[in-house]
Amino acid sequence: MRATEQQRELRAGIQAIGPAIEAGHIARDHSGTFSETGWKLLAETGLFGLPFDEESGGLGQDLVTTLYVLEGLGESCRDGGLNFSVSTHMVSAGVPLQRFGSAGLKARYLPGICAGTTIGAHAITEPEGGSDIMRMRTTAVADGDDFILNGTKAFVSNGPIADVIVVYARTGKPENPAGLTAFLVETDSPGLTRGNPIEKMGLRTSPLCELFLDDVRVPRRNVIGSVGAGFLVLDHVMKREILCSFVINVGEMRNRLERCVEYARTRTQFGAHIGSYQSLANKIVEMKIDVETSAKWIFDTAEKLAEGEDVSIDIAITKLITSEANVRTALSAIQVFGGYGYTAEYGLEKELRNAVAGTIYSGTTEIQKQRISTLIGLHRAVKPTKA
Ligand SMILES: Cc1cc2nc3c(=O)[nH]c(=O)nc-3n(C[C@H](O)[C@H](O)[C@H](O)COP(=O)(O)OP(=O)(O)OC[C@H]3O[C@@H](n4cnc5c(N)ncnc54)[C@H](O)[C@@H]3O)c2cc1C
Repeated sequence: MRATEQQRELRAGIQAIGPAIEAGHIARDHSGTFSETGWKLLAETGLFGLPFDEESGGLGQDLVTTLYVLEGLGESCRDGGLNFSVSTHMVSAGVPLQRFGSAGLKARYLPGICAGTTIGAHAITEPEGGSDIMRMRTTAVADGDDFILNGTKAFVSNGPIADVIVVYARTGKPENPAGLTAFLVETDSPGLTRGNPIEKMGLRTSPLCELFLDDVRVPRRNVIGSVGAGFLVLDHVMKREILCSFVINVGEMRNRLERCVEYARTRTQFGAHIGSYQSLANKIVEMKIDVETSAKWIFDTAEKLAEGEDVSIDIAITKLITSEANVRTALSAIQVFGGYGYTAEYGLEKELRNAVAGTIYSGTTEIQKQRISTLIGLHRAVKPTKA
């Protein structure tokens, strides 16, 4: 994209603190520690409020500007888990509140989300299933002015540090798109408990846990949108989640590419720079193509979305291309760096571990392919099994 002066300034503001927020990222990955310091430094820049209304404490920027700045975050900060927590926070709680929240909900929660003092998360996936969300089992039953929530949620990113979690629950029959509702739930609500942080392969600095809801009473005013509109809310959120979290990966890929070019121009074997050998250079050329293809799909799709066009297929293609490109470029980078690429010290093996997660969250690679095949008229819907 061709950035304006203002967009460049916003991005430069984030990139200026990149070295401070990523400092110690390899040790934190090893211990699985979330960076509170990095979070606070990012909060001071106003990043968390970038796409939200100014009256709610945000910066009132459009989607494309938000993506451009988030790409800058990915390019300058190698704490991939922290980067992932940032997009999860902004998108999971801020985005649905901004678009569907009542005036009261926005006034109560958006300023804290913009300031980074109220950390957000969302809970969709359950132990019995993540791909087939229409059959989620968590229920919300109306009781006077409240709803009573019961169920278990798996894999809640930011869960251990969250103050508010947008919980998706069933208020109607399974498989009925109008049977889901989104609730904003405070994590100190009686009956809500969180499991211990889950050890995982990558994104280790982004904390993740299970969530247990045992007769959790949530006021009706905390419904986001309306009762039965949960699928609509989720669809809106998932499109932005894919764009925001994967544009960060594009920034991370750009940084990775630059390091590979630099290394290939300086590392000498057989009397010449390794980049002068075409088979090695081709790896880096393919990385460049992966980065630019991913960026193009993300920004083109964001522009179409902003113009109100149907981007159902574009989003699926974008997610698929970018997540797979992230894995491929991380693997190539390790090969370019040889033995050093395989060591923890260079941080590249961590990038590969982080990248693998992107092929699973926000809809797996297989589910994106299923969606594309349905949208082009090939796929026959999977027959529901008896519950
Ligand atoms: C790092 C990370 C962070 C996450 N953060 C969150 C979060 O914040 N909130 C949240 O709610 N969830 C989160 N998730 C969960 C994630 O969304 C789910 O893991 C994902 O949707 C897949 O669901 P599942 O794990 O239940 O796998 P399943 O749905 O059981 O799938 C298992 C395998 O079967 C394949 N499969 C399933 N159905 C089909 C089909 N019809 N055709 C072909 N293949 C199929 C899948 O592609 C996959 O390979 C996170 C996951 C990870 C890894």
